[in-house]
Amino acid sequence: MTTAKAFTANSAASALEASSIPRRQVGPDDVEIRIEFCGVCHSDLHTARNEWAAWPTVYPCVPGHEIVGRVAKVGSNVKSFRIGDLAAVGCMVDSCGSCASCKEGLEQYCDTGGTVFTYNSPDPHGTAPVTYGGYSDHIVVKEKFVLHVSDKLNPAAVAPLLCAGITLYSPLKHWNAGPGKKVGIVGLGGLGHMGVKLSRAMGAETVLFTTSPNKVADGKRLGAHDVVVSKNADEMQRHQRSFDLIVNTVAVAHNLDPFLSLLKRDGTLVLVGAPQHPHPSPTIFNLLLARRSMAGSGIGGIRETQEMLNFCAEHTLVSDIEIIPIQEINNAYERMLKGDVRYRFVIDMKSLQK
Ligand code: NAP
Ligand code: ZN
Ligand code: ZN
Repeated sequence: MTTAKAFTANSAASALEASSIPRRQVGPDDVEIRIEFCGVCHSDLHTARNEWAAWPTVYPCVPGHEIVGRVAKVGSNVKSFRIGDLAAVGCMVDSCGSCASCKEGLEQYCDTGGTVFTYNSPDPHGTAPVTYGGYSDHIVVKEKFVLHVSDKLNPAAVAPLLCAGITLYSPLKHWNAGPGKKVGIVGLGGLGHMGVKLSRAMGAETVLFTTSPNKVADGKRLGAHDVVVSKNADEMQRHQRSFDLIVNTVAVAHNLDPFLSLLKRDGTLVLVGAPQHPHPSPTIFNLLLARRSMAGSGIGGIRETQEMLNFCAEHTLVSDIEIIPIQEINNAYERMLKGDVRYRFVIDMKSLQK
């Protein structure tokens, strides 16, 4: 075992603080990454504060699953990484590998419940009670769960692709966003701003729904063909029954009916936001009178995450970020709750050495 410097939440109510955590030694199939940048996802906040009843937080908790860094060590069986390579880790570090979902490259839906998430999952190596994430100086991950990153892009702005990027790319692909399709993205935060960029890059007519009138100009700059302030009923009316797909990224419970009624016949509303409290049930007639579907989607598999990173490199597409030192993390959480981030905080991990 080795030790890593980290920032840790020690209870739901306490601020994150500097600490040291154990990391396993590099095994034959492992890659050790010196973390340079780690994005700050709203899931980090939900987890640090134990907001998900279905997935209680084990403390101490080290959040962070948008990780970019340099390979520092490789195990003897590792073939695709060399020391010094730029590499990334997203939301998962292992899975059973043998069930139907894993065989299809959908490790996030491992049928045996064997997905090992990057933080707050039981640690199969027993290094600690649970896995510890990217708010730390290094991480050791099985090669199969490490991604390749193009040198062409700004590595700090690539970090958010590892969760925000793939969480939008996967449903957009699955529900066939592209030319001739009309796609709505609800919420302009970390996930939503990647949704706007990706949907536009895939060729879909893209409309952003925001509750924040002061984000309208940004929505257009990021690529939306139209931006609707969702509290404004007249603006919503303009788009009635016109969408093939709407992806909802909002991090708090809210009424889904206004969005369902914007779907055309056979359209789908995909929920990716994971609020603490459940959404009120939508009106069933809003589904059955137009054969509409409501679905959920979780991150994306490893193969698809690499495909997304390659797509972003081809389209020179990255996240809009604000770089912070790790000492600012608690303030960053408060600002994220106020919607005061354009559009993803990324921790410069050099600050951990201070
Ligand atoms: P974020 O940056 O905080 O963005 C959330 C956005 O939701 C805000 O920017 C805001 O957009 C909107 N919003 C916030 N409060 C609202 C309210 N009261 N009413 C309506 N809209 C509101 O969060 P994020 O990192 O993008 O994450 C979003 C959610 O997705 C979180 O719950 C996170 O845990 C979840 N998530 C899920 C997956 C998955 O695999 N499914 C992966 C990652 C994250 P406007 O100002 O534009 O309205
Ligand atoms: Zn995330
Ligand atoms: Zn599996």
